[in-house]
Amino acid sequence: MIWLRTFFLVALWAILALLVQWIIGDPAGWIVFCTAVTFMLFWRSWRLRLVSHWANHPDTSPPAAVGPWDDILAPLYRYTRARARDLAEARAAMQSMLSAAQALPDGVVTLNEDFQIEWCNRVARHHLSLNLPADRGQNLLNLLRAPEFVAYAHLDDWPDPILVRLAHGGQERVMMMHLAAYASNRRLLITRDVTQIEKLETTRRDFVANVSHELRTPLTVLTGFLETLRDMPVDALDDAQRAQYQAMMFEQAQRMQAIVEDLLALSTLESSPGSDPRAVNVPALLQTARQQIEALSAGRHTFSWDIDETLDILGAETELASAMSNLLTNAVRYTPDGGKITVRWYSESDGGARYSVQDTGIGISALHIPRLTERFYRVDRGRSRAAGGTGLGLAITKHIAIRHDAELLITSEPSRGSTFALHFSAERVVAA
Ligand code: ADP
Repeated sequence: MIWLRTFFLVALWAILALLVQWIIGDPAGWIVFCTAVTFMLFWRSWRLRLVSHWANHPDTSPPAAVGPWDDILAPLYRYTRARARDLAEARAAMQSMLSAAQALPDGVVTLNEDFQIEWCNRVARHHLSLNLPADRGQNLLNLLRAPEFVAYAHLDDWPDPILVRLAHGGQERVMMMHLAAYASNRRLLITRDVTQIEKLETTRRDFVANVSHELRTPLTVLTGFLETLRDMPVDALDDAQRAQYQAMMFEQAQRMQAIVEDLLALSTLESSPGSDPRAVNVPALLQTARQQIEALSAGRHTFSWDIDETLDILGAETELASAMSNLLTNAVRYTPDGGKITVRWYSESDGGARYSVQDTGIGISALHIPRLTERFYRVDRGRSRAAGGTGLGLAITKHIAIRHDAELLITSEPSRGSTFALHFSAERVVAA
């Protein structure tokens, strides 16, 4: 086609040259012919240059009107356009898959068959303290240094995940790790931080063990008495002894009842969302608590009451009554006879309100204070039991404080006494 066109053009120039030679004279024809052919060659090489420039930059539009090249460039251009479009789509799909992998709440690491790291998402970097790209190509088994994971990795397949304890920023984290094989010889590692779940599970196990232990002691005593009574001849005990046995059994039953009631109170606090806060008349509530606590003390302690009668709180009345009387009961329990208990309810400079119970009792050493609100934690188990404590009072009080956006503050000094206070924020305070 190209050669045919060239042949026709050259023939056209020759006819033109012959025509000019016939009209003007001999040399003029040759001059016209040579000039035309030179121009034609120049024009061709110029168009070739345009084509060659486009071949090096195929992402731009091809040059227009380049003669015979138009037929070649048009399909080439369509092809490169289609390829560029496919490539962009593949790139976008890849990018969106990577973004999805980055957004996963679990860690993901892709490994080759020798467990060398190829890629990992942000969560995995954090979980395994990886540093990409520096760690790319490193063997994960060497980096982790967890023998249980090395043994797991060398299994033939991994139907179940394993728990691995890893040091992380000076703390131990429990990581659930699951390997999976993909693409014939690749490995995928999924990591999940289960430290919190493990902690909760340990707390739950300890709690069940504690509850069983707490209930077993009075139950054993009660069963012992009942067995003795069952096996004794009816007339072996006189009325006074029988009454004494019954009193002891009643005491143990009461202890179990107190534990169960406190456990139910805790469970209600944990499971119920909490009612809408209402203005609670705290001075009236403290008046009732005062009668109960002075009856409990039975004149063994001196009391001082300093109550702001104008200060009410938004909250749940029964919960507040329970928290406030728990602190009062403890003050009576842990203050020897003759001690002083000072109860205050007052507004603070920040607009909040404070309820404080100060005693001159046995006090608590500093190492116990952070653990006092744990369930069943007691400084002196024997003393708490003898005083009728369940070990749950402060756990309940702390829960109630949290539900009222309040803070439980404890200061104490052994042998000098303690102050337990509830600080309510200004938003909770209402004038009576
Ligand atoms: P308990 O039923 O044993 O009193 P709490 O949860 O109320 O349980 O208190 C936990 C522990 O805190 C108590 O066993 C006791 O050792 C200590 N404690 C609480 N209040 C006081 C106080 N006012 N003075 C000294 N120790 C206290």
